[in-house]
Amino acid sequence: MNFVKIKSPDIISLVVPFYNEEDVIDEFFATVRPVLDAVPDSDYEIVCVNDGSRDLTLEKLLKYSIGDRRIKVVDLSRNFGKEAALTAGLDHARGDAVIPLDADLQDPPHLIPRLIEKWRDGFDVVIAIRSERLTDSYAKRSTASWFYRVHNAISDVKIPGNAGDFRLMSRQAVDALKLLPENHRFMKGLFAWIGFETASIEYVRQPRAAGTTKFSGWKLWNFALEGVTSFSTLPLRVWTYIGGLTAAFAFVLAAYLILRTVIRGVDVPGYASIFTAVLFLGGMQLVGIGVIGEYVGRIYSETKRRPVYIVRKFYQHDTQRREIDEPVSARSSA
Ligand code: UDP
Ligand code: MG
Repeated sequence: MNFVKIKSPDIISLVVPFYNEEDVIDEFFATVRPVLDAVPDSDYEIVCVNDGSRDLTLEKLLKYSIGDRRIKVVDLSRNFGKEAALTAGLDHARGDAVIPLDADLQDPPHLIPRLIEKWRDGFDVVIAIRSERLTDSYAKRSTASWFYRVHNAISDVKIPGNAGDFRLMSRQAVDALKLLPENHRFMKGLFAWIGFETASIEYVRQPRAAGTTKFSGWKLWNFALEGVTSFSTLPLRVWTYIGGLTAAFAFVLAAYLILRTVIRGVDVPGYASIFTAVLFLGGMQLVGIGVIGEYVGRIYSETKRRPVYIVRKFYQHDTQRREIDEPVSARSSA
């Protein structure tokens, strides 16, 4: 990235997934645009992905997009989930540096200039690390920290604890990311997988500007499973060892029981211990099969080779004006 080139302004792409975010959109643009306008030697685009919202998100986004050629809207055909929405946004981003950002302003936009500064220092990836996340509940923080610990212990690809999707990636890094063909896209892991020269800056996680979180406990659990199954096969392989140990234990126990019977004669009691052992082993086997099922299910859906997302329409400039019934607002004529 360090060779000298004819100076043309860098294009910074923001990639923002929106799912039922009508309440934050005004504040989002009011906050983000002044920040981007203030970055020296640069132009920008904001790639907004409407992830099948059922409220007025699309209408509001189009209102901004009509007044400003730099605001592009990728309208997905249904809700595909945040990872797919991010993927769609990254695919449509054209910038020299690309920054995924949550719509709810939990990733503070005022950090963007610092990300860009580091990028201009020569780093391909600049991660924003949450130094504290007191705005999240205790339960969310502790389960998240456990997840990172477990994930990093058993995966080859380490994801930095407390890093979200908020980061800056160079064009080269984004192009590398686009080479990864999988359908199950655990973005945090994929971001880490591509490697590159990485720097980080710290920030304090903000509360949501408006609206509510889209991630319930159950969704987060499945998200964690996605992360582990995407980057580790240890849960599959561990059963060989658990089975081996159990068999070894059974062998020793059998030897002991035979000896005892030879020395002390047959004794009948033992119902409780047999029952416990049967239940325990049955349970373990089912867990093992369940783990295999997690992987087989993913293999199944990967082999279908379905696209990660479907775009209903891509809006840019004001070519699609007929879609809009509201006049362009004065504020969005930047
Ligand atoms: N999001 C999305 N599709 C979904 C769920 C979420 O595009 O199915 C977007 C959402 O609009 C927001 C970002 O992902 O911009 C993060 O979501 P949220 O703030 O609800 O997650 P949290 O910060 O609570 O983890
Ligand atoms: Mg949020």
